[in-house]
Amino acid sequence: MRIVTSVAAMQRLAIEWNRRGVPVGLVPTMGYLHAGHVSLMRKARERSGKHGVVVLSIYVNPTQFAPTEDLANYPRDLPRDKKLCRDAGVDVVFVPGNQQMYPARPTAKFSTYVVEEMLSRGMEGVSRPTHFRGVATVVAKLFNIVRPDVAVFGAKDFQQAAIVKRMARDLNFPVKIIVAPTVRETDGLALSSRNKYLSADERAQAVALWQAIQQARQTVRASTHPIPASRLSSELKWLIETRPAARVDYIEFFDPETFQPTAKVERGAHIALAVFVGKTRLIDNARI
Ligand code: AMP
Repeated sequence: MRIVTSVAAMQRLAIEWNRRGVPVGLVPTMGYLHAGHVSLMRKARERSGKHGVVVLSIYVNPTQFAPTEDLANYPRDLPRDKKLCRDAGVDVVFVPGNQQMYPARPTAKFSTYVVEEMLSRGMEGVSRPTHFRGVATVVAKLFNIVRPDVAVFGAKDFQQAAIVKRMARDLNFPVKIIVAPTVRETDGLALSSRNKYLSADERAQAVALWQAIQQARQTVRASTHPIPASRLSSELKWLIETRPAARVDYIEFFDPETFQPTAKVERGAHIALAVFVGKTRLIDNARI
């Protein structure tokens, strides 16, 4: 397994693979890897084939964090990440620093961003207004640097995956975007690097997100008619906030293709929610 830290070296490798017709699979991450990331590595391997290569990038991208967010504290453990990648058969770990991705040139400041204007309007786009601009920009950069044939994203970040798909289509990136299912703990909590921030007590309360999703499913499936979204989300908010450390940021029901909110919830609709558990902001989503 190779560790590549410079953009130029990564791009040289990618150009050489492209020239030789070697299929390339990319898994973009921010590191502090867990079983959710490993499932994406496996998908990338499956899709790029045994003659293909799998690149996993680790980069905590500053442009997708607001100044008030957890950029400085974001958990990092490169030695452990490398071991997980090696065990999963990753060929190249691409770990660029900020100087590589956003070179600080006093006379030529970084000033080009990619903005998706439809799917990024709601939910995470409301709570984190510059987040998806940062995500789309760094993913576009990674696509130009690694030149993947397939790139694998997790359904855990459902809105992000949809935006990346739209960006790739709109901007003609020759890459197939694969969305892999959310990997969960046995009690249903979605794996996330941010779960590390939770105290033992908060960790126990964090299961509220998954319980709310299940409650929404049960309510909708047991009903013979569509349920008003406002009623359902107030019930779920109440259920979540019975846990003392939990505070709902948003609960939304929407069409998974258009991301338009639905006024009446029925099977096939999608739920997404963001909840603060203590100071930690967790997100989850699922098909109802
Ligand atoms: P992150 O390192 O959190 O930026 O995530 C990198 C990629 O892993 C993204 O495409 C995420 O959607 C995906 N991911 C994170 N958590 C999970 C999970 N629990 N199950 C599946 N994919 C995940």
